[in-house]
Amino acid sequence: MQAPSVGGVMLPRGKGETVRLSRGASLTDFAEKINANPASLVQVMFNLGEMVTATQSVSDETLGLLGEEMNYVVQIVSPEEEDRELLESFDIEFGEDEGGEKALMPRPPVVTVMGHVDHGKTRLLDAIRKTNVIAGEAGGITQHIGAYQAATEVNDEERKLTFIDTPGHEAFTAMRARGAKSTDIAILVVAANDGVMPQTVEALNHAKAAEVPIVVAVNKIDVEGADPTKVRGQLTEYGLVAEEYGGDTMFVDISAKQGENIDALLEAVVLTADAALDLRANPDQDAQGIAIEAHLDRGRGAVATVLVQRGTLRVGDTMVVGDAYGRVRAMLDDKGENIKEAGPATPVLVLGLTNVPGAGDNFLVVEEDRTARQIAEKRAARERNAAFAKRTRRVSLEDLDKVLKAGEVQQLNLIIKGDASGSVEALESSLMQLDVGEEVDLRILHRGVGAVTETDIDLATGSDAIVIGFNVRAEGRATQMAEREGVDVRYYSVIYQVIEEIEAALKGMLKPEYEEVELGTAEIREVFRSSKLGNIAGVLIRSGEVRRNTKARVVRDGKVVAENLTIEGLRRFKDDVTEIRDGFEGGINLGNYNDIKVDDVIATYEMREKPRG
Ligand code: GDP
Repeated sequence: MQAPSVGGVMLPRGKGETVRLSRGASLTDFAEKINANPASLVQVMFNLGEMVTATQSVSDETLGLLGEEMNYVVQIVSPEEEDRELLESFDIEFGEDEGGEKALMPRPPVVTVMGHVDHGKTRLLDAIRKTNVIAGEAGGITQHIGAYQAATEVNDEERKLTFIDTPGHEAFTAMRARGAKSTDIAILVVAANDGVMPQTVEALNHAKAAEVPIVVAVNKIDVEGADPTKVRGQLTEYGLVAEEYGGDTMFVDISAKQGENIDALLEAVVLTADAALDLRANPDQDAQGIAIEAHLDRGRGAVATVLVQRGTLRVGDTMVVGDAYGRVRAMLDDKGENIKEAGPATPVLVLGLTNVPGAGDNFLVVEEDRTARQIAEKRAARERNAAFAKRTRRVSLEDLDKVLKAGEVQQLNLIIKGDASGSVEALESSLMQLDVGEEVDLRILHRGVGAVTETDIDLATGSDAIVIGFNVRAEGRATQMAEREGVDVRYYSVIYQVIEEIEAALKGMLKPEYEEVELGTAEIREVFRSSKLGNIAGVLIRSGEVRRNTKARVVRDGKVVAENLTIEGLRRFKDDVTEIRDGFEGGINLGNYNDIKVDDVIATYEMREKPRG
């Protein structure tokens, strides 16, 4: 193989060495690693049929392709790995408890409620929150901070449980996709009057993929027609076999509405956790955990709910959460009470961060403010690169021209604004997974926490984007502006609904596809010459039917000799007819086309719109 050369200058080809590049790296990053001129790599990519600029971040495949061409083995470093390395460079280890076995103490399980829409997830979370406040703290009004703690008695012992207060598996999965494990155990809610539904299956698959044990809450047993037994039967098919049938999944029949059997459900969760999991953490170290939700508060600035996973978080600690950092100014628990410290599995609202972190971001306490700032800044830079790579679609040089000419790639631009980073991210990641084929592309131009602002409308105007407000509204003059500019702003409060509508919109953007359908064939038996009409084919219809005004082609000895003709005249004996069925004879006039011979076949067809799947 020839070494690629540019302008006669040989490129530094490798000897199969490994080059490590972070996801979303650019050709310049690559060039730096192998001591090459970035421009020469641009040229190499160009020769490979791809047009990229030196500083643009490119996809994993492009980096791999370039590596192959240059004889390097490219290793793409995932964001999680990279983050671990980043922390290691500060001598910080994330994710492991310090001090070994003896330092570990039991901690409450963290629970997510999942299931099909309308099966009662929200109602159940409310019921638990109301009836199972932790003893001694009753009376506090619970605040929505994204998670809360409840308690129940199991074998005369008070056991705490932590609930993630965003029902559904979207948020859960979005976090998991970012390498964050937020949940120990899942409650799968199935309405007994409705049974297993598509999202029930989806939810349980997500839980299984995350290797999270499942407890099934068979809800709405108060409703007429409720059939809890049927639910058990249905779930057997998905590998969830009830204990009473010899399986190892606990099913509890409840009514979230009437608050019935909630304690039994919590007990089942605790027992399942005890049996399947070893939930212990070291409470005596610098706190680490993940962010569950975050938003910008008018009065208090950036606030984030974090779940402490190990160690104890204290007011005054310096923490870094994703690309945000700061000194903990105050902490509030799920009742809105100020607290000074929070141990493992405790969710707390933290005040004092520089900006709004993302749901699923990890947090850790560090000794020095400077360290926190440096880590946060490095992460922010990396985020920018990665986000850019994700959103850039590659168009190969080969079809670039064609694509531009034909306007083939239709693009739906979106701007997402939401009430909390958790929901915005869940929405974004669900939308990015939508796939309706090659020709239509979804681009998220901007996403953020907060109201729909005039700036959002500006951006939408400039790029023909649709604005999605998830649990937020427009602010200031944004509504008038949107109306004036004709920007489509849509408001939602259910993720599922956004996905459905956007998917429908994407499908609607697809150009109709046509397929050819053969209508009939006619064999030419004789050719009549008419001075007025030109040649007329005397035919026998061999298959289907031949209709006037349909498209036709002429086939001779199996080869198409003429295309795109029209059946202009059709006769049976002396009469003009509109169609002739197979087995009958007739006369066909192909308009100006006269080159027909005996034994030719005239095949007629029409183009029909193909239904989209
Ligand atoms: P989600 O979409 O799964 O969060 O469902 P919701 O919690 O919003 O509940 C959907 C509807 O079912 C609401 O109207 C609830 O009041 C109702 N619901 C929830 N649980 C029960 C129950 O145990 N019994 C009855 N009768 N209705 C319930």
